[in-house]
Amino acid sequence: MSDPKPNLIGGAWRPGEGAPNVSPSDLSLTLGDYARGTRADALDAVAAAKAAFPAWSRSAPLTRHAILRKAADEILARREELGRLLSLEEGKTLPEGIGEVTRAGQIFDFFAGECLRLSGELLPSVRPGVGVEITREAVGVVGIITPWNFPIAIPAWKIAPALCHGNTVVFKPADLVPGSAWALVDILHRAGLPEGVLNLVMGRGSVVGQAIVESPDVTALTFTGSRQTGEALALASARLMRKVQFEMGGKNPFVVLKDADLGVAVEAVVNGSFFSTGQRCTASSRIIVEEAVYAPFLAAVKTRLEALTTGHALETGTDIGPVVDESQLAQDLEYIAQGQSEGARLVTGGDRVSRATEGFFLTPALFADCTNQMRIAREEIFGPVAAVIPVRDYDEALSVANDTPYGLSAGIATTSLKHASHFKRNAEAGMVMVNLPTAGVDFHVPFGGTKGSSHGPREQGRYAAEFFTSVKTAYQQP
Ligand code: ADP
Repeated sequence: MSDPKPNLIGGAWRPGEGAPNVSPSDLSLTLGDYARGTRADALDAVAAAKAAFPAWSRSAPLTRHAILRKAADEILARREELGRLLSLEEGKTLPEGIGEVTRAGQIFDFFAGECLRLSGELLPSVRPGVGVEITREAVGVVGIITPWNFPIAIPAWKIAPALCHGNTVVFKPADLVPGSAWALVDILHRAGLPEGVLNLVMGRGSVVGQAIVESPDVTALTFTGSRQTGEALALASARLMRKVQFEMGGKNPFVVLKDADLGVAVEAVVNGSFFSTGQRCTASSRIIVEEAVYAPFLAAVKTRLEALTTGHALETGTDIGPVVDESQLAQDLEYIAQGQSEGARLVTGGDRVSRATEGFFLTPALFADCTNQMRIAREEIFGPVAAVIPVRDYDEALSVANDTPYGLSAGIATTSLKHASHFKRNAEAGMVMVNLPTAGVDFHVPFGGTKGSSHGPREQGRYAAEFFTSVKTAYQQP
């Protein structure tokens, strides 16, 4: 066994005690060992990022552009290889893994372009002869803490704008998926980032994550993960008066009206609820269906789900890859048992199944006859489980859709312009989808939610500047 893949601190690869990266598709397959950083590693990384900040924040836009551009090119050129690694370590199917790597490349491409479009405003003051300049400045050292479900796309959509706007970074990926994170950092390092601008500290949230969060030198913190961790990070950050950007999951509704194209509705639900093994914060987990189409809709989704293949992420023909690990599988199975004990009807799936390799395979579970008060309709499960809730009409559908502590994404299937328009305006969510799955978003437009799903400015696209910069207003009398 070769040495564990090291952390990157202050431009040098630093070895550390390793932990194996095991594939959820095949528990006998280890994808190498990766260093688990210590508290001292995290603090050294923060110090290195702080030292690198003055020069990087003043670097020429063309320098930043060239590095991000080069990284984008390499990510895209290696999309098949990196997609394979991603699918093996996280469990999504190979086309999904390659798709995610492609998206990471596109994000770097987008922000490479943004480096050349940085701008400000020049206004006349209300006082004669005085000029007012409004510019955006880098915020400082950005702590980036990411989850396991998008091992390269989420790091990409946080790191790319951070670097584009002149910030330095301490990046801690999720412990379960160090492979994609390491590959991404290696690419950026070789693309020519000066030492200390991007630091990687892999390891546990309670050790590395906590050290980053507690450091007063981390001036902004961007996090995607669970609501519970988000709350703890928000409290710690409030004490430091630090800028934060948190994405924390959802319980996303998808409404099916009686005037919907049934084929469109079924595809949106099968994709939105179950693709990527349902492990997306934008997954639709509450399917709210008008009674008039309830029975045919359920029958069509059941038929479609039973034709899907659950199995090894790399096998051709697999539609649903494994659940990411044992504890997530246990949680999914617990919720499936909970749904049955609450009186929901399990229409299909929900079984742990065995395949040629030992892995965490779970068939997609569809519950019918649910109420919005059941735990499976209120709590985020983060697995291939969806709850179908019958409603009388559009008004009840909207009220059930909005009756949730979360507000990330909301979808509707309808051919009515009136209902589509009303839903876009009245769904309590940061993102609304009409005749499209709740999951699956573009990389050049804002991403984020309302209520308990998000806290702080939006991610992605030009809106990312809100978090990754602070605004300066300068007055001058010639
Ligand atoms: P998930 O359920 O997706 O694993 P978590 O919120 O537990 O969600 O984890 C998301 C990220 O937050 C991971 O990188 C994890 O290591 C990190 N993390 C977990 N606990 C803490 C903590 N106390 N401080 C900082 N980071 C943490």
